[in-house]
Formats: sequence, C-alpha cells, structure tokens
Amino acid sequence: MTVLEQGQIQIHTENIFPIIKKAVYSGHEVFLRELVSNAADAISKRRMAAMAGDCSEGAEGNVSIRIDRENKTITITDNGIGMTADEVKRYINQVAFSSAEDFLEKYKKEDDAIIGHFGLGFYSSFMVAREVELITCSARPNSEPVRWCCDGSPNFSLEAAERSEPGTDVILHLLDEEVEYLEPARLRNLITQYCDFMPVTVELEGEPVNKKIAPWRQSPRELTDEDYIELYRYLYPFQGDPLLWVHLNTDYPYALQGILFFPKVSGRADWEKGEIRLYCNQVFVSDSIKEIVPRYLLPLRGVIDSPDIPLNVSRSALQTDRRVRSIGNFVAKKVADRLRSLKQEDAKSYAEAWDALAPFVKIGAMEDEKFADQVSELILFGTTAPPNPSETEEPIAVGDQAFTTLAGYRARQASDHVNRVLYCTDEIAQAGALSLWKGQGAEVLLAETVIDSQFIPWLESKHSELKFQRIDAELDESMRDEQPELTDQDGESPSESLRGLIKKALNNDKVTIQVQALKGGADSPAALILLPEQMRRMNDIGALMEQRLPGLPDHHVLLVNRRHPMVEGLLKLNAGSVLVSNETSSPSQQLAASLAKHLYDMARLSVGGLEPNELAGFQSRSTKLMSELMERGM
Ligand code: ADP
Repeated sequence: MTVLEQGQIQIHTENIFPIIKKAVYSGHEVFLRELVSNAADAISKRRMAAMAGDCSEGAEGNVSIRIDRENKTITITDNGIGMTADEVKRYINQVAFSSAEDFLEKYKKEDDAIIGHFGLGFYSSFMVAREVELITCSARPNSEPVRWCCDGSPNFSLEAAERSEPGTDVILHLLDEEVEYLEPARLRNLITQYCDFMPVTVELEGEPVNKKIAPWRQSPRELTDEDYIELYRYLYPFQGDPLLWVHLNTDYPYALQGILFFPKVSGRADWEKGEIRLYCNQVFVSDSIKEIVPRYLLPLRGVIDSPDIPLNVSRSALQTDRRVRSIGNFVAKKVADRLRSLKQEDAKSYAEAWDALAPFVKIGAMEDEKFADQVSELILFGTTAPPNPSETEEPIAVGDQAFTTLAGYRARQASDHVNRVLYCTDEIAQAGALSLWKGQGAEVLLAETVIDSQFIPWLESKHSELKFQRIDAELDESMRDEQPELTDQDGESPSESLRGLIKKALNNDKVTIQVQALKGGADSPAALILLPEQMRRMNDIGALMEQRLPGLPDHHVLLVNRRHPMVEGLLKLNAGSVLVSNETSSPSQQLAASLAKHLYDMARLSVGGLEPNELAGFQSRSTKLMSELMERGM
C-alpha cells in the first residue's frame, strides 16, 4: 500500500487524547451518537451534491454497525459523501481536531455537568478506542480511497486503501475497559436511545434498528390522533394515554419543533425532574431538560427539537441564556393557545380535562405573569350551580359536577351588588355552611385542591374589585329568621341566657359565641363554627410559615342556632332547673352544661377541629350523655 503521509496532528495546547479519555469520564457512550450523526450528515451531503450534479447518487442512505468480537472492533459504515485524502487531512486532522479541542476548552471551564456532551465529534471515538481507522472513498468522480489511522497519540498515517463504493468506514479498536460495546444488546439500546428518530436507516449486524421518522418534524396536518398517541406510548411506555398534546413548530427567531403531551396526572406529578426529551436535529441529547421550559410545565412530556439550544454549556448557564428563556416563553404561549382553542372548540372536553390541567394552569398563572394573562379566561372552578342544558354554555356538566369560569359566575351574580365571590374549600367540613348558602339559592365555587389555598388569595390580588368570601366566614342576613325575642323576668332574652350558659360551659375566651335564629329550624345546623375571613387568613399564613396544615384557629366563632330543637331543649333544661335551685348547679344544669360542651365539640368535629386526643373524651361523654338522657326519659 502506498503511504501517502505520516505526520503529526497539530497540537495547540497539549495532548488531547488522554484528556478526552479522562476528562469526559462519564458518558463515553455518546461516541456512537457522534459517529452515527457524522455518517448521517455525510449521507445528506451526498444527496445534496448529487442533486447539484457534483457526484453520483448512491443507493438509499444507510448506516451500518458491525461488531467483530474476536478482533474487538466496531465498524460504523455509511454510504455518504466520503472524503478524499485532502479532505481527510483538512476535516479529520484539522476541523475535527480543532472542534474537539474547542469542546474540551469549554468543557474544562464548566464546573457543572454539561448537557449531553454534544459536539465532541469524531474524536469522541478515542473515549472508547485505542486505535481508530478510517477507510473512506469520496463520491466525487475519480476519487481514490484512503485509509487514515491514529493510535491515540498525535501521530497519524494516511495511505491508499481499497474500497469499491463511495462512503466511509470508521473502525474502532476498543480499549480493554470498553469492551461492553461489543455486546449487541448494549449497542442496540444506544441506537434506540440516541438515533431512533434520525432520518437514515441505522442497522446493527444487518438489521434495521431505528424508527427513522420523527413525527414532530411532520406537519400536524399529516398526523392523526393515533399517530400522536402512538408516539406518546412509544416514548413513555405503560403510562396510559396522554390527555392532549401541543405541536410546536417555529423557524424564527429560532428553529424549534416538538410535540408536548399533557399526561393524565395520577397522584403526584413530577414537578422536579422533568421528562421532556431534548433533541437536536432528530438526534437525542437529554431526557431531563428542566432548564428549558418554565417550572410549571415540567410535568409535561414529549419532545423539543432545536438546533438553537446551546448544548455545551452547564445547566446553570442554560437557565440564564436569553434565547433559552424566550424558547420557554414560546412553549408556554403555545400551551396556552392550545388550551384556549380546545376550550373554544370543545368546551365539554376541556371541562373534562380540567382537573388534570388545573395544577399546570394555576401554578403557571401564579408564577408567570404573561402566562397568567394568556390563561385568565381558561381557569375553571367546580360550582354548585346547576349545569346549563346546552352543554356548551356554562356551567358545563362533567358527570355530576358542573364547571364555570369566574366570569361566568360573575355574570350569573349580576344582581349581587357587593361583588362577592363565595367559595368553599372543603365540601365535607363546610357542609353546614354550604347547605345554608345553597338554601338561599347562592352559587358557591369549589376550590378544594391544595393549590387553591394559594390560588384564591392570588386571584383576589388580581381582582381587587371582587370580595372573595369563604362560605364559613359569616352568614348572610337573609339566612336569619329574626323575630323580636321576649325577655324573661330578669330582663334577659333567650339568646342572652343561651350565650351565658354556653360561655360558662366552654370557659374559653378565644371562642366568640353568637346566638342567632336560622331559617330552616331542625333542618339547619344546631351549631356551626365560623371563621371570619381575617382570622382565618392569619391562621393560614401562620401555618404556611410553620409548614403545617392550617388547623382550626384558636380564635373562632361558635354560632348557635336558637331555632334548632336541640338548642331550644337545652335552654329549657337549664331554665327549668333554675326554678329548683338558685345557688349551686343542679343535676339539670350540669347536664345542660355537658350538652353545651357537646354541641360545641360536634361543631368542631365537623370542621375537623377536634384534636385526635380529644376524640376519646368526646366519645365517652357521648355515651354518658345518652345514658343520662335515657334515664330521664328524654
Ligand atoms: P462536526 O461533525 O461537528 O463537523 P466532527 O469532528 O464530527 O465534527 O467531524 C469533522 C468533519 O469530518 C465533518 O465536518 C466532516 O466533514 C468530516 N467527517 C466526519 N465523519 C465523516 C463521515 N462519516 N463521512 C464524511 N465526512 C466525515
């Protein structure tokens, strides 16, 4: 064989080969992605050159990987444009070498892990090989095949070789510690991980391995719902089907394509790691790119493919990169647009998806003002109002729940001049108040998720014209059935006697006792805990700061309904006994005091305000009271 040249690769700084091996100490596997990308590039270059009439058009582009266990080699072969001897000198000795040098320069500067070790290029082969051979023949007319060989030192040789067809073989003589890559299963996994969606066939031992088609590069018009669902199932197996998806496609001011899926969030969504996969020209880069989309979109899944995202920078640098931030904004806007069009086109499906969408939308609105404006009309609440029979008008029924926007709620409350928004955070704990409001024909919004405890105050700050009121903050005048009360011989009204009796029995200054006559008699609650708005908020803030759940605040109101038969009975029991004895408390008075305490505890129990250690006492008192009442024949 004719030796064309033996020489030394120009070393600018230091010998980079040992550095490549050591510096990029993890992620050696990316050599395969780099070499297959080069092969795919060579194939597309040949196609373009053939179109321009500069070279012969080959067979269909193909990258083939073969393993030789005996000689411990892997060969990556393509039928692309190939290289002449001069091109090898220029591209491999100089271009490839200096891009590897550039890469390492940048790499050394970053203290943080960089995304994907992208662009180390041809010389990444030295991460796994002790010697690299390149046999190539240019597709341009009259080219002679050449063999380039380098053993990891700066010395290389270039000689005439044999190759009948244009294209390139890269033969890696593996290092002893890298023989894992002789395992077909290992290589197959790497091909599916990195090269699955590359636009050329990648074969392993003669068998095509990759999918080849990247649906996000297709026009949404060419894709059916099944295509999207199939992609989702393929990328995220056994995760159920997606709720909906957004197809991203822009060329300016950066090129970006992608498909993002809203997963059906079951239990806790992943707000930490992110599962969106980043690609660069259909080549996989990384599967956790939490730096690129805004935090509130992290539970989304799917693909973002953009050659304009800087890849050889640290994650922290990525986060502050202006272009990356504007990509994040673009993605958020597209997500909002998709939700808006769904709501406009199919309000029912939108309402059905709402529970799963709500966390993204609410957190997004609170964290990102621009997003808040984009989704302001897309936020739904469960409501107690009956659904609109039209199915497209609010309130929209989903099962036995109806949903409305705040604007829809306001429109139905047009006659309410106080601009009040009534909401309930727990239909069970606030059942008493809820039934009173519903009895008055009031519409109540349901804000029962954990996020709502922050979202409602946020919403309020955005709508200073509205007064948000939790249903158990206070009752409405209209719920009272006030008739003048007769006073007894001491000039005391029944309400005053009751208040005195209960106050004495509870003996707790922090509890404010209000006695009122509620409409509905026995059907309305006997007693109710109310939490005036300000009091409750102070408690919520305190709980947030101490990172505990906001329990029942010490200061609260016990509203006693003197129209309730039990309360009426209590008063009679107490009053009857006064006639018997004026000095010490009689058995009847003691019973009345016990019943008053019990009334209070029952009200606390229904708002979850009875501490676990109080439950046993509550239970034994219940039994005692019942026995005593039975003895008395009551
Ligand atoms: P990059 O691909 O980023 O330019 P590389 O180090 O991977 O950097 O490769 C340097 C150059 O070597 C390529 O730009 C290309 O011109 C040439 N090259 C590498 N691999 C091949 C190949 N399989 N076929 C043809 N040319 C190649």
